[in-house]
Amino acid sequence: MDQKQHDLVIIGAGPGGYVAAIRAAQLGLDVACIDKEPRLGGTCLRVGCIPSKALLESSEKYHEIRAGLANHGINTGEVTLDLAAMLARKTKLVHDLTDGIAGLFEKNKVARYEGAARLDGPGKVIVEGTDNLTLTAKNVIIATGSTSASLPGVEMDGDIVGDSTAALSYAEVPEHLVVIGAGYIGLELGSVWRRLGAEVTVVEYLDRILPGTDQEIAREAQKLFKRQKIKFVLKARVTGARRDKDGAVVEIEGKDPIRADRVLVAVGRKPYTEGLGLDTVGIELDERGRIPVDEHLATKAAGVHAIGDVIAGPMLAHKAEEEGVACVERLATGWGHVDHGTIPGVCYTDPEIAGVGKTEEELKDAGVPYRKGVFFFRANSRARALDRIDGRVKILAHEETDRVLGVHMIGPDAGHLIAEAVAAMAFGASSEDIARVCHAHPTLSEAVKEAALAVDGRAIHA
Ligand code: NAD
Repeated sequence: MDQKQHDLVIIGAGPGGYVAAIRAAQLGLDVACIDKEPRLGGTCLRVGCIPSKALLESSEKYHEIRAGLANHGINTGEVTLDLAAMLARKTKLVHDLTDGIAGLFEKNKVARYEGAARLDGPGKVIVEGTDNLTLTAKNVIIATGSTSASLPGVEMDGDIVGDSTAALSYAEVPEHLVVIGAGYIGLELGSVWRRLGAEVTVVEYLDRILPGTDQEIAREAQKLFKRQKIKFVLKARVTGARRDKDGAVVEIEGKDPIRADRVLVAVGRKPYTEGLGLDTVGIELDERGRIPVDEHLATKAAGVHAIGDVIAGPMLAHKAEEEGVACVERLATGWGHVDHGTIPGVCYTDPEIAGVGKTEEELKDAGVPYRKGVFFFRANSRARALDRIDGRVKILAHEETDRVLGVHMIGPDAGHLIAEAVAAMAFGASSEDIARVCHAHPTLSEAVKEAALAVDGRAIHA
């Protein structure tokens, strides 16, 4: 078998691995990145965030044109759906972006290998697949991401009963889609198919949707999704689901089974470490199947690091990217850091839901004294002009120091608006700081300023 030597070998070309590879090359390292898929970009680009976002945008336009434009004085004729064209646009977007990463690898002289990689003792990685060779390197970064979790009793066939990958490519709009799990995936993809005309029922084990999201915001979200005629069955533990001759059936503990013609299983993701040869370097997984790392993303095996979904923390592409950059910067310069306290979360439903920092529940539980400012989009002039008045911005600041501890919002473009809150928190801002920054008028961002003013009870338009 051929042998090659590099300074750094990265296993996995998702947002964690490919970004780390490019940054390492910028820093002058001879870097290789291995992925078993022919397309770079990992789950996020191939079968995750990007295709979801493509369908979210398309379905939002379809729904808006069908339901909402007469209000603006725009009359449309019959609006029809060409689902095949919508799916083809999504696929083209994925191909363009994954090709773009291949181009970036070439530009930055990142060596790319296609095949399954496994560690074979310290400093040695075996690649098997399209490429077959042994790589040696002083440092290795594991960035293998995660795969969909399954549920006992749920018989997934990858089609009628499937995960998010299947739900990104249904060839027809299901009549009744049952979604198991009211997390990000369930609500985003449930929204897509609801807008395209499916009846959607979301079955959730907990008594609330969006676990981990600030509860006030999650409650408002549920109210708005109900208005979109998404049905929720909460406090419902799914114990089984399977395909049958008429579609599928979902069984729930203590409740009647629900019939569906498609089932989306969205009950979380699990770290992907299968076949990685971790035992050859003495790495043991933690109780949740994750690779344990220290604050510098180093495992206990010398020269082996891990980033992204395969380690602890939120399973988010941008968290993996930050860790990838910090990890290689530390290897190349001795410095590298991720502020895990300011990683935003965004759910791309309509309206969008976004948050950063501590939730109100977390502050209460920790006994941290705080003040809270809330501003509603219905009092924001731009939101009114857009006809998108649902939602609110909530800022939580320390009662004594006024330092911003958390910002949570649901509303138009919340995914973009949260960036200001993240920057403010990263710079240790107080709510007074945000309140004193000039925000352009008329913009949605004024709702953030007003929420900051509201912390001190002096919002202007409240
Ligand atoms: P999730 O963990 O966010 O939600 C899963 C839900 O399934 C939970 O609410 C859980 O209570 C429920 N559940 C578990 N077992 C159940 C059962 N037996 N019956 C009924 N409900 C049950 O997981 P997800 O939505 O699958 O997302 C997976 C990961 O991908 C998450 O970490 C998420 O952050 C990430 N993701 C992020 C985005 C984004 O950033 N916009 C989009 C998609 C996915």
